[in-house]
Amino acid sequence: MRKLEIRPTIVQRKMTWTGLPRGYSNRLLAVLFPSPGVWAWKVLVSVLSAVFFLLGASFSEAYSRSEGAKFQRSIIQYHSRLNPDFPKIKRKETKYIIVHTSESGLQGTLRTVSAGKRTHDLGSTAGGHAHYVIARNGYTYQTLDKDLRADHAGKSMWNGETDISSLSIGIELVGYHYTPITKEQYRSVGILIDILKNLYRLKDRDVLTHSQVAYGNPNRWVRDNHRGRKRCASNFDRAKAALGPTWPYDPDVRAGRLTADPMLAAIFYEGRKVAAAAKREDANIISLNNTAWLIAGEDYNSPTTHYKLPNGRIVPGDKIETVICWNRVPPHTEVLLNQEQISGGREAAIQTPIKTITESATAWSYAGRRYNSKTTFYFLPNGLIKAGPTISDWDDLPKLTRLIIGYRGPYPISQSRTAHRIAGANLKDQNTIYFSPPKTLLPGNEVADFTNLPPGTLVFLPH
Ligand SMILES: [Zn+2]
Repeated sequence: MRKLEIRPTIVQRKMTWTGLPRGYSNRLLAVLFPSPGVWAWKVLVSVLSAVFFLLGASFSEAYSRSEGAKFQRSIIQYHSRLNPDFPKIKRKETKYIIVHTSESGLQGTLRTVSAGKRTHDLGSTAGGHAHYVIARNGYTYQTLDKDLRADHAGKSMWNGETDISSLSIGIELVGYHYTPITKEQYRSVGILIDILKNLYRLKDRDVLTHSQVAYGNPNRWVRDNHRGRKRCASNFDRAKAALGPTWPYDPDVRAGRLTADPMLAAIFYEGRKVAAAAKREDANIISLNNTAWLIAGEDYNSPTTHYKLPNGRIVPGDKIETVICWNRVPPHTEVLLNQEQISGGREAAIQTPIKTITESATAWSYAGRRYNSKTTFYFLPNGLIKAGPTISDWDDLPKLTRLIIGYRGPYPISQSRTAHRIAGANLKDQNTIYFSPPKTLLPGNEVADFTNLPPGTLVFLPH
């Protein structure tokens, strides 16, 4: 793996070593040390200023230079999977750093960011959707040369300028806009932003989230051009990344170019506690106040947005209009973003209690906050079984791990304790789960012969 070549440049600060503007400190010195010694002091101060300047401009920054250098050495170069069709265009200007949440796990994020993603009309994009990806353990991947234009902000506007992708660096945080960002991610994104800010001479307020800059055309939810097309990184807590405040207002809403989105406005410009939405237990559950639009933004009607109805049925976003109608989506429906497209027999597969982790379907997309509950069990591809509480993060599980949610057990089958004694009338129910080492996992309705279950078979019952 190649190592990174970003070199932080020293920031020009119009400050003296005292931290006060130059004129001010000279006046202060004149008061403290009146002539004839002033001249000598001025020389000393100049020398000291120069020394401090050379020692490091990051003197007052949140992260030290050695932390920055160590971080840069740790960046994983991940360019090999970039789609060959991606057009490599040099960015002319860098005015912003845009933070995203990827709405997926690490493997899925790296793949779609590099190789591209399916679009609503079943076409696909040419990849190059971010410059950096930060995993939930803080590991940072560079997916694109930082001087190239990444296709990350889509339809966007800030302060009257559109096409923000051509003016910015894009950083993807692995996770969802309604789940907490980890402290390891905050540390990495904080250091990375610090380095990039110095490199491109940017200020804290030039760091924005995708949800702040994205906008959409009128749709069934909003009449005019509007914010709210993306919810991306609306849970990003700037202070945790050692960043100062964002703009005090949305410049395009103030200028009348766009209609505000009440939820985003509250989070970013009205001082309501940032990430409040992310802390809500039901952030992705439909209610009177929480519409599909507020949860999914423009992806509300995408085939990869799944609506899990209270009765367990899953309807993809593009089918809602015909299957149930938008104004009849029942409260308590769960909205799952970035799911695999359901086609034909896949719908049945999704309904079974045994779920399989893939690049696009994470433990979080199946279990939500229950990913580490004691009623969630994981069956790893190597045959190991893990209970929820032993999992430190929902993105730590390998692809093809299977899981069941809302279960108790395991109950080992023995000569004295048969499957029938454990499961009773539910012996052959699809919700009774049988695990036979090393790797066989079956629902009751698929077990062929209960008298011949291998020794060591474990039974899991719905909680
Ligand atoms: Zn985004």
